[in-house]
Amino acid sequence: MNIIKLQDLYFKPYINKEKITTIVKYLAKSVKADLPKGEIPIFVGILNGCFLFAADFIREFNGDCEVSFVKLASYEGTSSSENVKHLVGINEDLTGRTVIILEDIIDTGATLQEIYNIFKDKNVKQLRVATLFFKPDVFKKELPIDYIGQSIEDKFIVGYGLDYNGLGRNYPEIYQLSTTPKMKNIVLFGPPGAGKGTQAAFLKEMYNLVHISTGDVFRFNIKNKTALGILAKKYMDEGNLVPDEVTINMLKAEVEKNADSNGFIFDGFPRTESQAAALDTFLAEKGEQINGMVALEVSEDILVTRLLERGKTSGRADDTDEAKIRNRFNEYNTKTAILKDYFQAQDKYYGINGVGSIEEITQRITTVFDTL
Ligand code: AMP
Repeated sequence: MNIIKLQDLYFKPYINKEKITTIVKYLAKSVKADLPKGEIPIFVGILNGCFLFAADFIREFNGDCEVSFVKLASYEGTSSSENVKHLVGINEDLTGRTVIILEDIIDTGATLQEIYNIFKDKNVKQLRVATLFFKPDVFKKELPIDYIGQSIEDKFIVGYGLDYNGLGRNYPEIYQLSTTPKMKNIVLFGPPGAGKGTQAAFLKEMYNLVHISTGDVFRFNIKNKTALGILAKKYMDEGNLVPDEVTINMLKAEVEKNADSNGFIFDGFPRTESQAAALDTFLAEKGEQINGMVALEVSEDILVTRLLERGKTSGRADDTDEAKIRNRFNEYNTKTAILKDYFQAQDKYYGINGVGSIEEITQRITTVFDTL
């Protein structure tokens, strides 16, 4: 899930498909469990927002029932300025029936109250309300809400039938109103030795971004003999990846330290799919996102030569021994290279030829950076 833009507003991922399915299943099961044996209920969906929820709910309910939809229409009376509300779409005789109203979301409860009053006059046997989402902080009515899928905070949401100015109903997940992304966040990607660090040093100046190299942060910690450094060292010296949890927490802390920046160049992170997913979620929570992955593409043989050359002066234990270098490539090929697909699937992958002079490569990267 990504940040989406609907007209002038940005929305960030909030509740995913799996979670929605779980909530709908729970609601259908609860409603069914409370019905007397043999009772055939009429489900009444409140349009437009409930159409996806109602469809999924009724499939999950999986029993005899009738289904109807209503819409609360409001129009200005001709002789007065008073708002007249009436229900469109209900033709059935509801006398003696069990009616269950299906709502996608209840916030103040004003709409529901109108609908509830109209149904109360129809001699129904029982009137119940099931809602997918409920905003307890703004609900102002005395109405009983019999079934609540999930209570949520008072923020505007879209997706799964819910709209903003008519848009967004088609998304299978729920998104929450976000602030406009302000940052430019780039993942600088490529195998060990591709030149990420060298290029990042230029790019951070040119674009006024904060450069976070997870490798550098680890090395800084090792040098200062911190607990994190001691832990990371045994992995790094062998050319293995440091465990995800450790790395992700460290990365988050680095981002938090620079919360006011224009954006970040992530160098050496993410390196696994779970790091990529954690980064997406973390940024989305801030109303931010990755704008693109810029990848330096260089063949492995050139890289091994480059790294051995660098090892003569870098003082890095993982640069001096060919077996350890090969292991880093092995880690890269088995765990990291797949991130190309991950970002490609989001239309965010930009491959760049990483062979040439430093200036040539910077030039190639800036051409892409300028478009992000
Ligand atoms: P680098 O300076 O990016 O080549 O990273 C050097 C070493 O630091 C790697 O071989 C790993 O042992 C460790 N490291 C750096 N970034 C990460 C990461 N995102 N996930 C796991 N380990 C990392």
